[in-house]
Amino acid sequence: MEAARLHEYTEEMDQALQIDDVDEPTVSEPTDVIVEVTGAGWCQTDNHIIEGMWTEYVDQTLPMTLGHENAGIVREVGDLVDTVDVGDPVICHPVQTCGVCRPCRLGEDMYCEHSVFNGLTTDGGFAEYLHTSDRATIPLPAGVDPTEIAPHADAGITAYHAAKKAVAELNPGDTAVVIGIGGLGHIGLQCLQAMSAATIVAVDLKQEALELAADLGADETVDSSDEDVADAIASITDEVGAQQVLDFVGRDETTALAPDITAAGGDHHIIGYGGMITEPAQALVNGEFAFRGTLVGQYTELQELVALVDRGDVTLHTDHYSLDEVNTVAERLEHGEIEGRAVIEP
Ligand code: NAD
Ligand code: ZN
Repeated sequence: MEAARLHEYTEEMDQALQIDDVDEPTVSEPTDVIVEVTGAGWCQTDNHIIEGMWTEYVDQTLPMTLGHENAGIVREVGDLVDTVDVGDPVICHPVQTCGVCRPCRLGEDMYCEHSVFNGLTTDGGFAEYLHTSDRATIPLPAGVDPTEIAPHADAGITAYHAAKKAVAELNPGDTAVVIGIGGLGHIGLQCLQAMSAATIVAVDLKQEALELAADLGADETVDSSDEDVADAIASITDEVGAQQVLDFVGRDETTALAPDITAAGGDHHIIGYGGMITEPAQALVNGEFAFRGTLVGQYTELQELVALVDRGDVTLHTDHYSLDEVNTVAERLEHGEIEGRAVIEP
């Protein structure tokens, strides 16, 4: 089968991945599931992986097929699999967990002590077939197209995970700020809306992204390319600040906003990454705000997100590309030329 693989870390996105002819994955463990990938979202994390940004945090062996936002049709199952059947449309949690370690038993899939992560530590879904497991596959309700829903496997679950933590702290009358209305952010905004009564402010430096945010129902938009974000949030919140900030950018300039835009006792959630957090300790003491990290999300949260999608509360803005266009997508995303999410159809 054809697979888009990373052979060497590089900054050159126009030659990031190579289309190779590789063996199709097969069932080897009784809990294995082989999925024919109909859609695989391209995430900015793919660009980060290509640049070698994850080598400090996980073991990677190249060449590796990228793609961690996968959905499709089950084509083969191991003898012990009874949660999905051949022919079922499914969305795939990117992490295959052991199920028996303490974090797994607590439902903390992302902390599993024996996990493998498609497209990050093992082959992913920019290929015709994906090797995964019964614990990572979620059958889709009738009428939900796996090709359309693929980005929820990572962009969606991550945005949902952060939004759910934020919503637990948001009261009616509070303000939530979403920074970066791209692949993740346009989903995060809708999750906040579906689950809270807060005023939602979208911040981006691209006009198209702000238009998308307004279409999706953001109460206010702030163009950070020509507005002072701190002034704008102060004016929207009567100088109180935002109780919850979802930072889907995570660069120096957005993490630096925290002391100025976060309300006392609030949280600045770090979802996007690449920059640094450099604040005086006293700033956190004075405002008693917190930086909180977010890593993807739990299997059960993906189920919850699928329920929101099924209710029509969360929609995706996507464009579709073929497997041999992966490097075009990588380049376009690098230059901010993708609205919403790009989905590869292998
Ligand atoms: P994306 O490129 O689709 O979206 C980013 C958006 O942020 C774009 O709309 C862009 O215009 C906007 N933006 C960029 N710089 C900005 C700035 N300084 N101020 C305001 N807006 C700005 O990217 P994505 O795929 O949505 O990923 C977003 C981030 O989340 C990336 O860093 C990615 O690696 C990360 N990510 C994290 C996790 C996790 O588990 N924490 C999972 C997936 C992706
Ligand atoms: Zn485990």
